[in-house]
Amino acid sequence: MSHQSPRSEVRLQGIGVSPGISYGLADYFGPALVEPEQLSIESSEIESEKTRLNVAITATREQITALQEEIEQSSGSEHSSIFDAHLLILEDSTVLDEILRKVENELCTIDWAYHEVMSQYTESLRKISDAYLRERAVDIEDVAQRVLKNLAWPGGDWLKPTLSENAAIVLAHDLTPSDTIGFDREKVKGFATEAGSPTSHTAIMAHSLNIPAVVALHAFKSSCQPGDMVLVDGYKGLLIINPSESTLSEYEAVIEREDQLAADLKPLAEEETFTADGRQITLSANIEFLEELELVSSQGAEGVGLYRTEFFYLKDSTLQSEDHQTENYAAIAKACGSYGVIIRTLDLGGDKLHPDLFEEPQPNPFLGWRGIRVSLDRPEDFKVQLRAILRASAHGKTRLMYPFISNLDEVLQANALLEEAKDELRAKGIPFDESIERGAMIEIPSAVMIADHIAREVEFLSIGTNDLVQYTTAVDRINDRVANLYRPAHPAVVEMIRLTVEAAHRNGIWCGICGEVGSDLNLTPLWIGMGVDELSVGPAQVLKLRRAISRLSSDECELLLEEASRKGRASEILEISRDLAGKYYPELLSSSPVG
Ligand code: PEP
Ligand code: MG
Repeated sequence: MSHQSPRSEVRLQGIGVSPGISYGLADYFGPALVEPEQLSIESSEIESEKTRLNVAITATREQITALQEEIEQSSGSEHSSIFDAHLLILEDSTVLDEILRKVENELCTIDWAYHEVMSQYTESLRKISDAYLRERAVDIEDVAQRVLKNLAWPGGDWLKPTLSENAAIVLAHDLTPSDTIGFDREKVKGFATEAGSPTSHTAIMAHSLNIPAVVALHAFKSSCQPGDMVLVDGYKGLLIINPSESTLSEYEAVIEREDQLAADLKPLAEEETFTADGRQITLSANIEFLEELELVSSQGAEGVGLYRTEFFYLKDSTLQSEDHQTENYAAIAKACGSYGVIIRTLDLGGDKLHPDLFEEPQPNPFLGWRGIRVSLDRPEDFKVQLRAILRASAHGKTRLMYPFISNLDEVLQANALLEEAKDELRAKGIPFDESIERGAMIEIPSAVMIADHIAREVEFLSIGTNDLVQYTTAVDRINDRVANLYRPAHPAVVEMIRLTVEAAHRNGIWCGICGEVGSDLNLTPLWIGMGVDELSVGPAQVLKLRRAISRLSSDECELLLEEASRKGRASEILEISRDLAGKYYPELLSSSPVG
């Protein structure tokens, strides 16, 4: 059949969210919507197409019946009766006859005929004014998708969202952070998703793990099939399906160049970070998992500047015990040596939903119950985490940090609970660092505006730009429809960051950036110009950033910042900052030159 013949190269443009290039066998993860291509068959193939349909219908019947029994046992027959309707749709002989006639008359595949006929039915139901009948379109679609998937993957492989044995590139409509955690990191070398945005937590994790990733590719399922060879270009945001020989050899040259750069930068892993005029900056790493510690040390990060503890909760489906948490945090503190670790207390909510805590969907999850709000509403569980962090501080340099601060009361309440946690440990004679440093994340504009007040209650501030951009400019960080409006160089954002750094310094404390913009080499001159004390970035970005910083001098960056403060558009600020960056480290800015 023609759909088995080799297919030519197709290039799809998305957004590169984690740089690098990977090439390998692709597989879909999750319930992909199947939209078959219009392909023709020989008349000799009609009978085998009919057999394929019979096999798929039988498999679908078995799956629906099994589901029906499962639901009947868990929720009663009231809920399972919907599947009677599904079985009727599945076996409707008028519809099946029409599909088979289409295959015979038009010599098309059964997949195409089935999809076309079922789509016609759903379309006509959607136009009916009766709401009940309109709803039935969803049922028909549901059944049709099951049959189409059973045609595409006989044996029911699509039922469990797993990857085929040799798959190296994960294709998905979207990936949640919990999906991403589950992949075997030895096997998975790249991600490509139809939805998504640069600061979704999935993108951040790919970046941290140094796995090339492209998001916001929009419907790619008609161009790409499981089993295709694909290339992910995380620099340019390209997904190349069935790359040609010449594309592959061009990319080999790019990979060689990247390897050469990595080798050049390697000696910097032994050094600390200074600007050209000798100002020291702390360059630490953001991590989500213990497994990343290896990368933290091999890339020469100066400790961990952000440990996102919520991933620890998301990974295991039950909330963790104090001992278990202590063990986890202490392991990181020990590994970070004298630089230490900044442990951020739970930042669940938004796109990080724990099933035990978020049974009901929130209408606006990013403006809802998230971060410190969740912790303060559950003070006993919060204190478990605080005690665990304190106990870890006896094993190695440990700081703690509160996420999602929107007002001063939250900082005061969190500090009060920290004091209670300390008292509880003292009462039991458990050791901890009495002068553990506390930090507040500044990621909401209201916190920027009261940064002086917050700065008086903590020992450091860390700017979470991923959220600060989203809340300052009203652009949902995970909505690819508005990804073009997500602009870290927006003058309002740059000003918010500057105000925060100034407030910290005015109050005699240090200030870092732990959002993704900290590793955007185009913008590094701005942060140096502001006098930021620390940048915490994905471990894989550390060496490039260390080299970039070493080429910049504070004076020139301060002048740049002054010029930036007179600009009204993100594009203008980006341009002047990029010009300065290009003057000093062009070789680091170059993205993949192919295409
Ligand atoms: C941020 O908001 O910039 C940040 C570092 O935290 P997260 O990305 O986990 O929200
Ligand atoms: Mg944040």
